[in-house]
Amino acid sequence: NIKLSDRVQSIKPSPTLAVTARAAAMRAAGKDIVGLGAGEPDFDTPEHIKQAAIKAIQDGFTKYTPVGGTPSLKKAVVAKFKRENGLDYDVKQVLVSCGGKQSFYNLAQALLNPGDEVIIPAPYWVSYPDMVLLAGAVPVIIDAPQSQKFKITPAQLKAALTPKTRLFVINSPSNPSGMAYDEAELKALGEVLKDYPEVVIATDDMYEHIVWKAGSFRNILNVCPELYDRTVVLNGVSKAYSMTGWRIGYAAGPEKLIEAMTNIQSQSTSNPTSISQVAAETALNGDQSFIGEMVKAFKERHDYVVSELNSIPGISCLETDGTFYVLPNVQGVIDRIPGISDDLALSEHLIEHGGVAVVPGSAFGAPGHVRLSIATSMTNLRKAMERLKNSLT
Ligand code: PLP
Repeated sequence: NIKLSDRVQSIKPSPTLAVTARAAAMRAAGKDIVGLGAGEPDFDTPEHIKQAAIKAIQDGFTKYTPVGGTPSLKKAVVAKFKRENGLDYDVKQVLVSCGGKQSFYNLAQALLNPGDEVIIPAPYWVSYPDMVLLAGAVPVIIDAPQSQKFKITPAQLKAALTPKTRLFVINSPSNPSGMAYDEAELKALGEVLKDYPEVVIATDDMYEHIVWKAGSFRNILNVCPELYDRTVVLNGVSKAYSMTGWRIGYAAGPEKLIEAMTNIQSQSTSNPTSISQVAAETALNGDQSFIGEMVKAFKERHDYVVSELNSIPGISCLETDGTFYVLPNVQGVIDRIPGISDDLALSEHLIEHGGVAVVPGSAFGAPGHVRLSIATSMTNLRKAMERLKNSLT
């Protein structure tokens, strides 16, 4: 009769990982399921990155490293920010963690007190609200509907800010919507934030490289450099280099905050895996051509999937700016099919009777939608679209 903490009872297991696990279990039981739940690229980690890790093992680089990452990886991160984002950091302003997930976790633990408010635009990455709750703070959700391309307006941001707001989270391009804020939109949000100097900004740039919209990737610091002293940039190698299993993410920001985040990490995981750090350094410093090839494949799949989805009555899917997700509005299907009352029931129907695993939009704060991952082969996507058509028309 173990009594669990209030803390753990305030959260739920990651629904995206749960869908993937369920699809895998059904497949293991002999069912033919096309999984569109995955939050990871379906490509192999590039060979030169793997070889660097193998060499690290053979060289005996298998011990503790400094908690926040090796000096050479931190230097590679600093160089990356300069080269790709035009941002200047000292190595003291960088923390390398066990995936982007831990980067945000450290930030929440280092920054938030009970009762503090964190503004999170919805649709959101599933982990933000729960990590905020784990820190005892309060997620304040701003709803960005499909009609706004799933992006919040400056007026919405202003209305959500209160004297208790400690953190504003922006994820562009977004998981799950695939939408990216353009320069003007970022600038307008930055203008609002200028009047709230005590609010810290977290920009999660995890999908910065997976974009196809014209114009290069920009984050809020690029257009509002005056926010530098209170902005934390979060990124990692998971998605850009298809390295989800290696568990390397990184953060850069004000030295005092990074130091506090490092202290949290020093009492939880210590350093990220030494071998993975060598791999990540090779990824950041090495040949970048892998990314272009991957993005080309995602774009082709995106075009196919969006057009197929829009041919199903009751589904409306926007073209995205990037990522490997699409977030169709399925309310018309929910309204049309008797016995299906929401996106959760529809997702259940699709996995049980359609043989396709998708993630209900409710998991991302977007009820009436489902998230499909296009990080799977065209063969699988064709099969999935055929099944969706058969079970929904
Ligand atoms: N941020 C966003 C928006 C994500 O979608 C993810 C992964 O799904 C992460 C951060 C964390 O990635 P990881 O912990 O695998 O590096």
